[in-house]
This record gives sequence, C-alpha cells and structure tokens, in this order.
Amino acid sequence: MSVRLRLQPEAIGTGMTSQRVRDRLVQRLRDEGIADERVLNAIRTVPRHLFVDEALATRAYEDTALPIGHGQTISQPWVVARMTEALLSASPGKVLEIGTGSGYQAAILAALGLEVHTVERIGELLRVARKRFRSLGLNIRSKHDDGRIGWPENGPFDAIIVTAAAPALVDALGEQLATGGVLIAPVGGASSQSLMLLHKQADGSLRQQDLGAVVFVPLLSGMID
Ligand code: SAH
Repeated sequence: MSVRLRLQPEAIGTGMTSQRVRDRLVQRLRDEGIADERVLNAIRTVPRHLFVDEALATRAYEDTALPIGHGQTISQPWVVARMTEALLSASPGKVLEIGTGSGYQAAILAALGLEVHTVERIGELLRVARKRFRSLGLNIRSKHDDGRIGWPENGPFDAIIVTAAAPALVDALGEQLATGGVLIAPVGGASSQSLMLLHKQADGSLRQQDLGAVVFVPLLSGMID
C-alpha cells in the first residue's frame, strides 16, 4: 500500500522537522510495538509539523500530544499509530473519524489510500484542518457537526475511529458500522480511558477487545464556531 501525498518544500522539512528526525520517531514507535510497515510508512511521510502551530513545529516529531488551541490536542503519534493499526485489521475502504482536530489522524488514514470522512464540532479547527488537506492534496470529506450522530447519509463505514473520550459507547456509531467492520474508541472517565476495539458481528452485535489505557480530551455535545 503506497502513501498518497503531494509534498511541497515546506512539507519536506529541515532541522528538527527533517527526515532524520522523523525516522527517529518511526524507530521509537517500532521499539514500542508498532509493527505494521504501512502505518510506519504513513507516519514517516505525513508532515506532522504542518499540523501544529509553527511555534511547536520543532516538537512535532516527539512522541507526545501537543496543544492545537481551543483546549484540544493533536494525539500522541504512538496512539495514532496504534489506532490506525487496529483499524487496518478490518481491511477497510470507507472510514469515519469523529474529532478532526488538527486533521493529522485523518491525513494518516487518507495517505493509506482509505476513503476518509471526518467530523469536527469546533468550526475554527475544521477550517484550519481543511486548509492542510488542500495543501497536501488530500481528498478528505469533512463536516462541521456534533459527531455523536455520526454521518448516517454516508454510512455504513468499514471502520469508525473516535478520537475523543466518552464514558460510554455512542449507539449511533455502532449502527453506522458495516458487518465485519470495526469501531475504535476511548471509553472511560476524564483522567484515563480504555481504548476499545469493537468488531461488528453478522448478527449485529459488537465483540469487544480492550487495547489498553489511553488519555483523550472529552467528546462534547453540540457544535461551536
Ligand atoms: N484526531 C485529532 C485529535 C483531536 S482531539 C488529531 O489528529 O488532531 C479531539 C477532537 O475531537 C477535538 O478537536 C474536539 O473538538 C473534537 N470533538 C470533541 N467532541 C466532538 C463531537 N461531539 N463531535 C465532533 N468532534 C468532537
């Protein structure tokens, strides 16, 4: 699976955003158990420094979450890699992300050749993310909405990834999942959650697997400009 991206000079990076620095992050993810070469290749190729404020660009290839404004964060690369690996287990075509944020996770999925739909409740974050998609030549469908209702007109999806935490699974999302599809979502309280992987069975039920502890910002209701 090749990585599909249009890379302008600023996306190539220099110094703390150089290929050498990115390769170091990829090696670290490998050491920490990420084994899928497609995922590692996407992380190596997608310029994470263009998904954060310029002032934070030098920290973009550290394995850490970073602030993106409005009290939100771009997820830690290890978490993005782990969720992407889990998602690929369903060999998906069409995927839905809830919580566009910076747009980085969506860009990783699009770079893997998937048909990506993403929903964000904060209008300003979505506007900035859309600019990034355009400048990287990524064809990603996005919507400003409360993602807890999913995107029913475009379902069913082969995979749904929720990048904000909720105390319980959102029923509407399970309903928009195709048979054989997977739903990946952090479930739990504010301080820490379990990353849940749910497989949709032929009878419509969801088989659960716990992938371990993660920390996400909360899934909130309603939308804001
Ligand atoms: N996937 C993002 C992570 C962003 S953090 C990235 O790669 O950068 C989680 C995001 O989920 C925030 O931008 C937050 O505004 C958004 N969010 C929270 N609740 C939401 C909801 N109900 N619908 C859509 N987006 C939501």
